[in-house]
Amino acid sequence: MIPYSTQYIDDDDISAVISALKGDCITQGEIVELFEIELAKYLGVKYVVVFNSATSALNISYKILLLSGFSAITTPLTFCATANMMLENDITPIFCDCDSCGNISVESIKKILNNNDNIKALVSVDFAGNSVEVDEILQVCKQNNLYFISDSSHSFGGEYKNVKIGNFADMTIFSFHALKSITTIEGGAIATNNKDFYDKARLLRSHGIKKMRLWNSELDFIGYNFRLSDVACALGISQLKKVDSFIEKRKKIATFYEKRFSNNPYFSTLKIKDYIKSTYHLYPILLNQNLWCAKEEIFQAMLDLGIGVQVHYKPIYQYNLYKKSHHTIEGVENFYKSEISIPCHQKMTIQDVEFVADSVLKVLESN
Ligand SMILES: *Cc1c(COP(=O)(O)O)cnc(C)c1O
Repeated sequence: MIPYSTQYIDDDDISAVISALKGDCITQGEIVELFEIELAKYLGVKYVVVFNSATSALNISYKILLLSGFSAITTPLTFCATANMMLENDITPIFCDCDSCGNISVESIKKILNNNDNIKALVSVDFAGNSVEVDEILQVCKQNNLYFISDSSHSFGGEYKNVKIGNFADMTIFSFHALKSITTIEGGAIATNNKDFYDKARLLRSHGIKKMRLWNSELDFIGYNFRLSDVACALGISQLKKVDSFIEKRKKIATFYEKRFSNNPYFSTLKIKDYIKSTYHLYPILLNQNLWCAKEEIFQAMLDLGIGVQVHYKPIYQYNLYKKSHHTIEGVENFYKSEISIPCHQKMTIQDVEFVADSVLKVLESN
């Protein structure tokens, strides 16, 4: 099976992990801070705080902004953690419509804002690694006094108008799960230029313990243990050196697909704007409407050929946990009915890429 995505670990990564394991501190040591400094340097932001997952990072970012009791607008086309951590923090998610790329639709955000005055934040997702329309979103947030949180779990290393993702939102969340741009096995981060958010994130990550003189410490609120170990951070530092080559490789695969699939009668692909650098975390194909009914058969036929397809995402409001409060959203429903993600990752050989492209077209011809 060629998976839709997978990690890429080389001998340098393995050596880095082994040497961290042999070090004095395997957790809470200097490698954590080194990784954070390297991440901040790469992104061009002031502060980065690493966590044991993006889910923890989302949880903490919602807590820092004191959103409890308020609503936040977000996309239903995301991994459940984006919204789950809202429920965890007593925030009501309000789901908006998507655009043709599966990203938050700014028009639909404006409509929601006209009918609701309890909204305090906007949480976007860079679907498949393709940045949201940052300028428009920043304008809407400014006009309506909203915090902007970017769940950029798909887009570490991506850019908007030649500036790295991580520089726009009040807090940007990244994931270093095995399938994301770079991996620490499990892991995540908050990037921010706000010193206050940074200080709070560090405290909340580790029990809320504030170090005082000698052995003394102080607690002002409950914190957690959402730390990332030095061993994981050593892997992260090693992976970070390769992130640009990973993205370059994915872009090559996407370019091959683009050419191969141009003018095909079965599906379209995402149109990435020329001012956006996508990480190609996913390569979605969007089936034409006449094929939506056959999607299960198409999906199964691709699996049978050894192509590890996946669907991103079942809209969050369709889950039992969310069903009570939400109706369906037409654009999102249509996107969901059409979407299948096909393999695109740095471990694929050119033969793999050709095989996937041929097989996808073959399956669709016979359906
Ligand atoms: C992967 C992902 C997460 C969760 O990341 P973890 O590091 O596994 O907690 C959250 N949001 C989105 C959009 C993701 O793709």
